[in-house]
Amino acid sequence: MGFKAKARKHKSESGEETGTKKKSSAKVGEIPCGVKSCDGFADKSFGGRSLSIDNAIDVWGDSGYTERKGRVRVCKGCYRKWKKDNKSEDTY
Ligand SMILES: [Zn+2]
Repeated sequence: MGFKAKARKHKSESGEETGTKKKSSAKVGEIPCGVKSCDGFADKSFGGRSLSIDNAIDVWGDSGYTERKGRVRVCKGCYRKWKKDNKSEDTY
């Protein structure tokens, strides 16, 4: 005879999977600021903007920027600088 005792049910204990949740502390952009003297990022998530070539020349001169498809992508800080420079002309 020999009824084999049913093997103990093996309950696999699969707890919560602690996945690899990466929290990127240091944000890195993809689009570098078009201003040569600046090493910021002009990504939208960084508040970057795109200016026209004319606008860029006004502030940074003929060779102070890098063109991208007819526009100049600038970071938030550079956009502010441009805005400031233009404001003084626009306001009375
Ligand atoms: Zn910049």
